[in-house]
Amino acid sequence: MPPDFDSTSMSYRPEPEPTHSPNPGPARRILMVGGVAGGASCAARLRRLDESVEIVIFDRGPYVAFANCGLPYYVGDIIADERKLLVASPEMFRERFNIQVHTNTDVTGIDRPARAISVRDLSTGQSRTERYDALVLSPGAAPIRPPLPGVDLPGVFAVRNIPDSRRIRSWIADRHARTAVIVGGGFIGLEMVENLIHRGLSVTVLEKQPQVMPPLDPEVAAPLMKHLVAKGVQLHLGDGLARIDEVADGRLVVVAESGASFPADLVILAIGVRPENDLAKAAGLQIGSRNGIVVDSQMRTSDTEIWAVGDVVEVPDVLTGQDTVLPLAGPANRQGRVAAESIAGRATNFRGIQATAVVGVLGLTVASTGASEKGLRRAGVTNFEKVYLHPGHHAAYYPNAHPIHLKLLFSVPDGRILGAQAIGMEGVDKRIDVIATAIQFRGTVHDLAEAELCYAPQFGAAKDPVNLAGMLAENVLDGDMPQADWLELDHTAALLVDVREPAEFADGHIPNAINLPLSQMRDRYAELPKNREIWTYCLVGQRGYFATRFLAQHGYRSRNLSGGYTTYQAFRTAVRPTAALRLD
Ligand code: FAD
Repeated sequence: MPPDFDSTSMSYRPEPEPTHSPNPGPARRILMVGGVAGGASCAARLRRLDESVEIVIFDRGPYVAFANCGLPYYVGDIIADERKLLVASPEMFRERFNIQVHTNTDVTGIDRPARAISVRDLSTGQSRTERYDALVLSPGAAPIRPPLPGVDLPGVFAVRNIPDSRRIRSWIADRHARTAVIVGGGFIGLEMVENLIHRGLSVTVLEKQPQVMPPLDPEVAAPLMKHLVAKGVQLHLGDGLARIDEVADGRLVVVAESGASFPADLVILAIGVRPENDLAKAAGLQIGSRNGIVVDSQMRTSDTEIWAVGDVVEVPDVLTGQDTVLPLAGPANRQGRVAAESIAGRATNFRGIQATAVVGVLGLTVASTGASEKGLRRAGVTNFEKVYLHPGHHAAYYPNAHPIHLKLLFSVPDGRILGAQAIGMEGVDKRIDVIATAIQFRGTVHDLAEAELCYAPQFGAAKDPVNLAGMLAENVLDGDMPQADWLELDHTAALLVDVREPAEFADGHIPNAINLPLSQMRDRYAELPKNREIWTYCLVGQRGYFATRFLAQHGYRSRNLSGGYTTYQAFRTAVRPTAALRLD
């Protein structure tokens, strides 16, 4: 395998000698509980580092190393062949890596003093013990099934593994299912929306929060909500699940807390997951405040011979320093690798998570990294600012430029990037990945403004949306673009000035705004009162910024509404989602 690149010395460092060199004595035994994202990557990495150890994987399911992330697309028939989901088989583990795999084998207990686990073969019902020198826990997270009437009825599903997905597929086919209710509008819920729509079902989403994608700030989620409605998805927001009833012919009715009810041929529960911490708890391992197993930076638990990785652990958020659980495949894979290195005697550290995530929904991409505004406020952080922008995903003059709605959060006065959220049809993942990388290097908005990114008209712009976001943020930090806060719009005594052209103003504007187009500003600015603060806005924020600069230099107290009327409409949808969605 290729040598690793060592960023500290800027030179290639050779693979070190295996810590545990082959010897004639009994091999060191490393056992893995769970053989999918975290467990499988840990096992494979460990073998690459150390040929001498014995590695055994136990998984209670019938498969290991399957693509959980592909499951919704298997339900949707976009991935038609189930075998495509199997990234590796037990045979491949045995032949390629000399790793033993026991599927259909539940690990039922850990005897720490004896350094042994109890396992039960689910096909024979027989139990046995297996001794270990090192144990890796990667049991994942289980879908939450709230203790409500009807959640265990036939036709109510959660999506965690291949058999779950197979059952959903059969149910749709056998019952000729036409309608589905998805409870929960987060990542998995929305992926299921896309796939059930693809299967021709009519879909309702029941979500307790007043928005879909609860990790996002509501105004960023607003275009997504409109998009879902435009695609025929029925959104029922701000209402929780109360019960599920079975009616004639085995059909179901989902009843919400408000009493609203929704008939369905099948129901998908996608209201989140909980770390599978039962084994660890029973063994007395330290569990954190978020119910994840507590680990150090090498993924070692409170027992020095036991490591834990993946959805089951709590790890620090790189921005807030607070421990958190993050059920995503990237961290699980990287943690598996770190644990393997630690077991092999290398001091590699996991640096923490920042919640970089993406989802595609019916042609729209939604992605985010780092903190959200609501997360910062919850954590009591106040020294931050934000900018909104809506640039095209590539040069406007090149055909088919689609807007990216981007929100960037940064700390004041140092400009450190705290988070970003974006939504659009193209180029969203690329921008969020760039910003995510900058966050990992503790970058500032100045780094974004300066970032040298690839450009040709069909890919981006000479000032890429990432550069623009950094430049806007610099303008705020430098005092060049005093900003008004959208959240104060309803209470402000400022004069709202819409600087778009009269036809744009006539098409729709913020209530109580007056129209003074930027194109007439130089001739007419004296009409504006000097004794009142002026808040300018345009369609996306740029003309409003120009107007603010102009007015400030003529003695006015002026602020710009970041993101302009486009951001206003998003806030309007976010604050009154149901009304706004019906209006449109
Ligand atoms: P898992 O991969 O869940 O593996 C845990 C395994 O342990 C399971 O096979 C389980 O059967 C086994 N196990 C548990 N307890 C025991 C026991 N006592 N004995 C034996 N075996 C046991 N993440 C993304 O980043 N992007 C995505 O697009 C994405 N999409 C997803 C879509 C779906 C439908 C799902 C369910 C998850 C998705 N994820 C996605 C999340 C991602 O799959 C998980 O974060 C990741 O798989 C976690 O890895 P893990 O090793 O901790 O757990």
